[in-house]
Order: sequence, then C-alpha cells, then structure tokens
Amino acid sequence: MKISGATRTFGVFGDPISHSLSPAMHNEVLAMSGIDAVYVPYHVKPAQLASAVAGIRAMNIWGVNVTIPHKVAICAHLDEIDPEARLIGAINTVVNREGRLVGYNTDGGGFLRSLKEDLAFDPHGRKVLLLGAGGAARAILVALGHAGAHWVGVANRTEQRARILVDEFRTIFTGTQLADFHLDFSPASKLMDSLEGVDLIVNATSLGMNKGPAPELPWEQLSENVCIYDIVYAQEGTALINEARTRGFCCADGLGMLAGQGEVAFTLWTGVEPPSGVMKRRILAECSGK
Ligand code: NAP
Repeated sequence: MKISGATRTFGVFGDPISHSLSPAMHNEVLAMSGIDAVYVPYHVKPAQLASAVAGIRAMNIWGVNVTIPHKVAICAHLDEIDPEARLIGAINTVVNREGRLVGYNTDGGGFLRSLKEDLAFDPHGRKVLLLGAGGAARAILVALGHAGAHWVGVANRTEQRARILVDEFRTIFTGTQLADFHLDFSPASKLMDSLEGVDLIVNATSLGMNKGPAPELPWEQLSENVCIYDIVYAQEGTALINEARTRGFCCADGLGMLAGQGEVAFTLWTGVEPPSGVMKRRILAECSGK
C-alpha cells in the first residue's frame, strides 16, 4: 500500500473496534480497484461521538462505517438520513458529500444481496418467517418490505417487541402481510400453525453467537423446500446452519450479509462496484488467521 499526500481516508467508528473485519475487507478492495485511499479503525467512545463526527468534516474523511454502540446515536449529528435508514432508525454508513454528511443503512441491502448470491432467493411474493425483533431484524423487515415479500411473520422471545415492530410497519408496507408471534414452536402454538407455505426462515436473533445454541426449529414440520438464513456467522458454521446443512436444507450464514453491507457501502462512497466475492473471501481469510 502506497500512501501519498493525495491519499484519502475511510474508517469505522465503534467501541470496541479492534475486532472489526471492515478494515481488512475494504483495504483489499480499495487496493484492487486502484483507488488512492486507506480505511482505518477509530475507537470512538460514546462521549466523543459528536467530536468524532465533526472530525469527518474537519479532516475531510471520505466516509465511515458506524458500529456498536453508535448506530442510533449518530443520526442526531448528521445533515441528512437516507429514507430507508430513517425507517430502520439506525445507520451504519456515512457518506461525506463535500462536508454534508449523509447517513445510510446498508444491512438490508447486504442481506438481499446475500440472499440472491448465496441462496438464489428472491423474496418478492414469498412467505418469510423472521426470528428476532432487534436492530438487525428491523433492517431485514424493511428490506423484505421493499423487496415485495408477500408475508413476513416476526417471532420474538419478547412477544411485545415483535408486536410493536409489526404494528409500526403494517401501515408502511401495505403490500406485505405482517404478523407477530411469540418465538415458541410448541405443538398447536400460533407460530406452528403459521408454518405452512413458508419459503424462508431467517434467524435475526443473537442465538448462535459465540458458539452458543441455535434457535430450535421444528425441523420435521418444515417443507424440504424451505431455505434457512442465519444472519449470525461463525468460521466453523453456526449451529443452526450446520444442522440445516446436515438435514439437506438450502442454507447460508451471515458472512454474505456482512460482505454485502460492505459492498453496498463501498459503492455509495466511491461509485465503484467492488469485484464480486473479494470481501467475503477476505473475511474468511481473516477469520482463519491468514
Ligand atoms: P439486538 O438488537 O440486541 O437483538 C437481539 C435479538 O435476539 C432480540 O430479538 C432478542 O430477543 C433475541 N435474543 C437474544 N437472546 C435470545 C435468546 N436467548 N433466545 C431467543 N431470542 C434471543 O441485536 P441485533 O443487532 O439485532 O443483532 C442480532 C444478531 O445479528 C447478532 O448476533 C449480530 O452479530 C448479528 N448481525 C449480523 C449482521 C451481519 O452482517 N451478518 C448484521 C447485524 C447483526 P428479545 O427481544 O426477547 O431480547
């Protein structure tokens, strides 16, 4: 990597940040695309967020990603929020347009890109069961609504959170039927009764993180055509995806979504479409210590 007086900068704000895979994947694509820029991690504590955002303008940083815990708080410091990010209520990407800072959320775009590339799945007109009602589930629900899913059921451990989420979006995505459930697959539960015709099940809970247990699915009741997407990812495969694969279901973990959100951000910043698969391969290599 050659750094000159003309080299521009990108970065990622987070606390903690040292685990971030974004510098590796973005620097690889910057180098391959011949763009004279570097991408660096910034450890930004919550109390310093406003100053850090001012620093984007002051130092003419080209753009930043934003991760935990700043995804919601940063919205108050930006000049403009993209409509999709506004619906989601959180951003993960800031584009510096000549000092005007615009916030985007590329998680939903990354999810849709991964569905297409990893599962050849188009949600338009399909029936999707979404497990979880946290920040990531919200981004996925918005993406599925925009993609024209026919039905989305949101099932969450805390049922009330699923209900609030669904109530909020029912009037926005009028072409998509929305339903809320308690995350409970016991026989004769409302959730079990809704399984017929489901095309895709998405795990957007944090179950399966850090080698934890997977959400328990009623495998015997699922049609063999159901696809399983786990937004959680692990180098050795998440428990959910390992089980789905063993049982012969079409499935993918969240590595493609992570790469996909990075690809969408990269294009927003530079106008350049990253070479296909490079970010994903870089993440895999980083995870395996190469
Ligand atoms: P979050 O806002 O904290 O939401 C967590 C969700 O998990 C909630 O729905 C919560 O249910 C549920 N949950 C937690 N523990 C549970 C348990 N023991 N049993 C059942 N449900 C449980 O987190 P988030 O930001 O949405 O992230 C969720 C996961 O997605 C994380 O693992 C994160 O790493 C991953 N993620 C991946 C990508 C990617 O690019 N692949 C992007 C974003 C997030 P309650 O409401 O009942 O607490």
